[in-house]
Amino acid sequence: MKRIFSVLLAFVMVLGLAAVIPPAQATTGGKLVALTFDDGPGPCTSRLLDGLKKRGVHVTFFMVGSSVARYPELVERMYQEGHQLANHSYDHSDLTDLSDSGVRNQISKTNALLDKAAGAGSTYMVRAPYGNTNSRVRGLIGAPLAYWSVDPRDWQDRDATTVKNRVVRDAHDGAIILLHDIHSTSVDAALDAIDILMDEGYEFVTVREMFRRRGVELENGVSYTRCKPTGTDYGPVQEPVITAESMDGKLSIRITAQEGASIYYSLEDGNLNQESKRYTGPFTVEAPCTVWAVAAYNMNGDRSDTVSKGFTKVSCEPPTIHVTEEGMLTLVRNTPGTDLFYTLDGTAATENATLYTGAVTLKPGTAISACAGGSNFYTSAPVYGTYSHLGHFYRDVYMDRWYYPYVDEAVDKGYMLGVGLREFAPEATLTRGQLITLLYRYSGEEVTQEELEGCPFQDLEAERYYVDAVCWAYARGIVLGYNETTFGPNNSVKRQEMCKIFGEYLRVQGKLLPDGTGMADQYKDAEKIALWAVPYVERMTACGLILGDKEGTFRPTAGAIRAQAATLLVRLSELEDTLPDVPQEPVDPEGM
Ligand code: ZN
Repeated sequence: MKRIFSVLLAFVMVLGLAAVIPPAQATTGGKLVALTFDDGPGPCTSRLLDGLKKRGVHVTFFMVGSSVARYPELVERMYQEGHQLANHSYDHSDLTDLSDSGVRNQISKTNALLDKAAGAGSTYMVRAPYGNTNSRVRGLIGAPLAYWSVDPRDWQDRDATTVKNRVVRDAHDGAIILLHDIHSTSVDAALDAIDILMDEGYEFVTVREMFRRRGVELENGVSYTRCKPTGTDYGPVQEPVITAESMDGKLSIRITAQEGASIYYSLEDGNLNQESKRYTGPFTVEAPCTVWAVAAYNMNGDRSDTVSKGFTKVSCEPPTIHVTEEGMLTLVRNTPGTDLFYTLDGTAATENATLYTGAVTLKPGTAISACAGGSNFYTSAPVYGTYSHLGHFYRDVYMDRWYYPYVDEAVDKGYMLGVGLREFAPEATLTRGQLITLLYRYSGEEVTQEELEGCPFQDLEAERYYVDAVCWAYARGIVLGYNETTFGPNNSVKRQEMCKIFGEYLRVQGKLLPDGTGMADQYKDAEKIALWAVPYVERMTACGLILGDKEGTFRPTAGAIRAQAATLLVRLSELEDTLPDVPQEPVDPEGM
C-alpha cells in the first residue's frame, strides 16, 4: 500500500511539476527510447562502447561504485563519448536494509568515483539495486531515480536472440529499457536491437535527454519508469559555433549555442567535463590555438558532441608609411606584435622583404612598399608610397603612372597642393571652381577690388576659396559663365571645357597658339567634341598641351582629373615662354 501510494505520488509530481523548458525548436518529434545498462562496468563494456560509437547511440550506465573503481578508464570513455553516468550504489546492497548513513555512503562514495570522469559538481541519477526503495531511501538519495518500463530479463536468459526479441517486442515510445553490460549476450542483444529499432524509426537517447526533450523536469527523490510523449520534442542539443576575430593582434573568441544551453570550453584538450571553463562572453587568446567547446543542458548525459576549431594566425593591419622632406623613411606599426617589412625597388612588399628595424634614408625617386606580418599573423596587404625625384612624399602617386613627373613638378613648383596628409588624389575629378583656382594661382596675378565688385555670378558662395579666382577669370575674359548670373563653381569640369579655359587663358596672356585646324580628327572620338570646343582642342593638340589617351581617344565630356590639370599646368609653364606674343581674337564668345 505504501509502495502504491509513493508510485502514485511520483506520478502526480511528474505531471504537476512538469516544467516546460523554453522552446528552441519544439516539434512533435519522433519515437524516443532510452537504453540503460546496470551493474557494470565490466569486461564486455568496451565492446558495447565500440558498437554504440559505430551507431552514434548514447545510453545511460547505472554503475556500481566498486566496479567504477576497477575500470576508471572505461568510465572516462563513456563520459567523453556522451553517455550518461548514473549511480547504482557502491556494492549493490539493498538500500532499504541500510541505515541512513549507510544509504548516504553508498550514494556518495559512487558519486565521488564518477566525479573523476565527469568532474566535481556533476549530478547523477540513481537506480537502487533490485529496484528496492522506500520514501526514506528516496529522500536520502536526493536525486531523480530511474527505473524501467521494459525488462527483457537478460540476467535470467543468457541468450542474445531471446533478449533482443524481447527488447524489440516491448519497446515503445518513451521506454526506459533495462539491460546489464556485464553479460556478453546482453551486449550482442543490445546492438542487434538498436539496429532493428532504428529501422523502425526509434531514436536512442540518454534518460536525461529524453525527459528534457519532452519538456519534463526531473525532480529529486522521484522515481521515473518511462517518459510518455508530451507532444513536444525540443530535439538534440546543437553543437556550439566557435568564431574568432582579430583584435589588437590577438584573437577574440566567441562561442554561441542554442537558447538555454550552457557552453563549456577548453584551450588544452577536448576532454571537457563539469569542471571545464564555463563560457560567459568573448575572451582573448593568442594564436596559434585550438578551442574545444560543448553545449549542454546537463554535461552528464544531455549535451552536444564536442567541437573544436583551430586558429593558426590572425590578420593584421598594414603599417603606415612616413617620409620626411629629408627622405627619412619610418614605418608605423598598426597592429601590436607584428613585424614590418619593406621594399625600395618598386615591388610589392611581402614577408620575404627587408625587415624594418628603424628609420631608413631614401634617395629621391624611390618607390616604397611595406606590409606587416610575423609568425602569428597573416601577411597584411602591401601599402605603397613614393619619395619622388623632386623630394616629395606621396601615398597615392606612383612612379609608374603617366602623370607622375607632371604631378611631382606641379607640386614642386607650388601649382598644386596635396589634399590632406601626403595624398594628392590624382584621379579625383575637378570642379570648375577648382580648375579656375589652379589657373589663378599659376598666373601669380591678384584680383582687384573692382573686379570682385564687378563679378555678376549669383551662385558663388561668399568666402569660398574660388571666389577671387572666378572673379579674376571673368574680369579678364577667360570665362563667361553659363549665363550672366550663373557660373556653376561646383560642377565638374569636362575635358573639352578645360581646353577652352586654358586656351582663353593663353589668349589673355597674349600668347599665340598654333592653328591646328583639322588636328581634332586624329582622335577616334573627334565627332563627340562640341563644335565650340573643336578650335581649342585643335590648338592645344597642335602645341602639345593635349595628347589624348593611349587608345587614341579624347573623351571630351569625361570629367577632368587632378592629374590632367597638373600635366597641363606643367606643359603650359614650359610652353609659355616659347609661344609667340601675338594676341588673337576669342574663337567663340558663347558657352562657358
Ligand atoms: Zn543491479
